Amino acid sequence: MMAYSRKYKQVFFAGKRNVFIFEKCENKTWQYEVIVLSLIMKRLIGLDLDGTLTQHRSPLDAVHRELLDAIGGKYKIIIVAAGNAPRVFAQMGQYPIDIIANYGMQESRMIDGKFTIVRDDKVAVDRRFFISETDYLRRKYGYTDYVGDSLEFHESGMVTFPLLGTKADINDKIAFDPDRSKRRLMYPEVKELFKGWSVFVGGTSSFDFTPEQYNKYDAMIHYGAEHGYSRDEMLYVGDDFGDGGGDSDIRLGGMDYIAVEDYRKLAEKLKYLLS
Ligand SMILES: [Mg+2]
Repeated sequence: MMAYSRKYKQVFFAGKRNVFIFEKCENKTWQYEVIVLSLIMKRLIGLDLDGTLTQHRSPLDAVHRELLDAIGGKYKIIIVAAGNAPRVFAQMGQYPIDIIANYGMQESRMIDGKFTIVRDDKVAVDRRFFISETDYLRRKYGYTDYVGDSLEFHESGMVTFPLLGTKADINDKIAFDPDRSKRRLMYPEVKELFKGWSVFVGGTSSFDFTPEQYNKYDAMIHYGAEHGYSRDEMLYVGDDFGDGGGDSDIRLGGMDYIAVEDYRKLAEKLKYLLS
């Protein structure tokens, strides 16, 4: 470990493409510090999509497309997302890039210029267990009114528990829990009930469940092992590192990362990678 000064709160770099990060993030419900001093040259950059490269569930705009082109010219870049690969690919306007989807359950690559799903893991889910536990949670926390279905069982075995229901209005969803405090309040109990599952405070108003071995940290490590990148050569960029956040396992696993507060400021945050 090299010496560092606590007065620095910025992501900064010294030396050619060597990454030095010292960042402190705070909000009302969680607080942590991340200190990373890596002298290894970064070669692989994993990027989250929603909230990092785009507004939630919104198309990739021209600015961020150009940014990806620029970064992709210097580093191997991949998307590491919560959504499924076809959805991510469509949201990105068919941008040609490898996608680790559903927290690692699915993976797509561009092969001969064509979007190709190369891995699609599936697990069996005990639906009755999910129904009974989420019914209990709805009653306890007062979410018994919902639109559409109470649960969404994805083909992969991933499960989504949308507190407002599967057919809720997008505006209601966006207004529901912008600081995630409603879901963070429930999170410890949800985690406790669903042992063996990774539980994420996902999207605008739901919880996502994947079998424990699927999370963004393990997904990046597996990708690196297959493609010849060590953990120290990886950098992850995301917006949701708080407890239960989709990117939290990256923080807990100890991988170097950059936290983005606003996707519109992403280019500024990443300009160091291009210098
Ligand atoms: Mg995100």
